[in-house]
Amino acid sequence: MRFVVPTGNSASPKWVIRADRSAASKPLLAGPIRRVGDVPEDASLRSSESDPFDLIVRDALIVVGGVARRCDIGVAGDLITAVGPKLRSSAPSLDARGNLVVNGLVESHLHLDKSRIADRCAVGDGSIDEAMAATRRAKPTFTEADVYERARQTLLECVLHGTTRVRTHVEVDPLVELRGLDGVIAAAESLRAAVDVDICVFVQDGLFNNPGTDELLVAALARGVKAVGGTPYADTEPIRHIHRIFELAAEFDVDVDFHLDLSQLPEPRFAEVVCEETAARGWEARVTVGHLTQWSMLPPATFAVLGDRMVDLGIGVVVLPATDLFLMGRTSTFAKPRGVLELADFVAAGGKAAIATNNVLNPFTPYGDCSLVRMANLYANICHLATPEELSACFDLVTRNAADVIGISNYGIAVGNHADLVALDGASTAEVVARVAAVRWVVKNGRQSVRGAGAELLGPHDMNGAGSDASSL
Ligand SMILES: [Zn+2]
Repeated sequence: MRFVVPTGNSASPKWVIRADRSAASKPLLAGPIRRVGDVPEDASLRSSESDPFDLIVRDALIVVGGVARRCDIGVAGDLITAVGPKLRSSAPSLDARGNLVVNGLVESHLHLDKSRIADRCAVGDGSIDEAMAATRRAKPTFTEADVYERARQTLLECVLHGTTRVRTHVEVDPLVELRGLDGVIAAAESLRAAVDVDICVFVQDGLFNNPGTDELLVAALARGVKAVGGTPYADTEPIRHIHRIFELAAEFDVDVDFHLDLSQLPEPRFAEVVCEETAARGWEARVTVGHLTQWSMLPPATFAVLGDRMVDLGIGVVVLPATDLFLMGRTSTFAKPRGVLELADFVAAGGKAAIATNNVLNPFTPYGDCSLVRMANLYANICHLATPEELSACFDLVTRNAADVIGISNYGIAVGNHADLVALDGASTAEVVARVAAVRWVVKNGRQSVRGAGAELLGPHDMNGAGSDASSL
């Protein structure tokens, strides 16, 4: 059964809510678990003068317009220049062996600067206030070199898990000044051959209650970053905070990316203000809001009305399952709320949405391996998603939908797009999410950047230290 939530006006609403998801139940993911053979040696990436390609990917399973098919992918320079069956070429090749190949995983929300500081911070009640206070105490210890080392390690883990594009949120305030920004820029530069990083500078601890922050934000924006963001709930003047961030975005012609809420209050805090500013400044399709734990506490009908407005304004929504799950429900001793917003209806209505990693090994989230496939699996688990269609939609939230949220155009396996190619050990997007499938190899801008290494079961001879009789996982 499905019903349309009334929006209070005569315009036909885009939003359709399934009153009972079980009524639309479909078979669970089925079929054999496939095993992938050895990954070929690195391509030398040099072809003969007459060959149109520098690299050929053989027997890739690609999904275009929701339809899966097996084909070859031809690469010249840093672009995909051909997609089709059995392309003729003697160029170096990578064999996908019928496995899924995508145009890279896309991380739309990640804090590189404060990643890997769990060893400097204690976790007590696990509340958001505690996490923010612990990070404030740690920030004065951040040096550019320290940030560089931690950010680089986190970024490297992203790369090894198939992420080829990242938006990172970097804090700017008098405690850390611009050291975090400098460290993250250096880390991104060190891995530029493997991953594209765009930076959103933002204030975590308030703007108007934190003298000196505005000046530093302006200095950071003058460096030429891609986006500016804020955290209105942490400011003593949250509405003025939102206005100022939009004002800066207009002045520097950058996108806006807010941490909009992070509590269990069942109200859409600040959403109206963000919508009004987006419309007033003509910033449609340039605004993103993150977390929305409070939206997850709303009745679907309330969310639907707001969602329609956000669809119209092209405001992207990024849900951060690991952090939201860790920080919410802390006042409950049982029947704990999850605080993770379900996105299916919003996406079905035409909304831009993604799921992302957010924090790694810090007081906000003391876990993390930077695997977006694992994050998609976690999200599916939290939201009770199980059919192939539902699992495939989760995969979209870390690939093409995430690209759309952070303004990446021309995403997908198609001629003319960037040759970012990630082979995953699965025969469908749904299977990849269900099994948390491993990365087999990655090509970034036409060059192989990662070779996957699966665990191997050793045969009896190997276990005794002699001979070779191994089975690759
Ligand atoms: Zn965040």
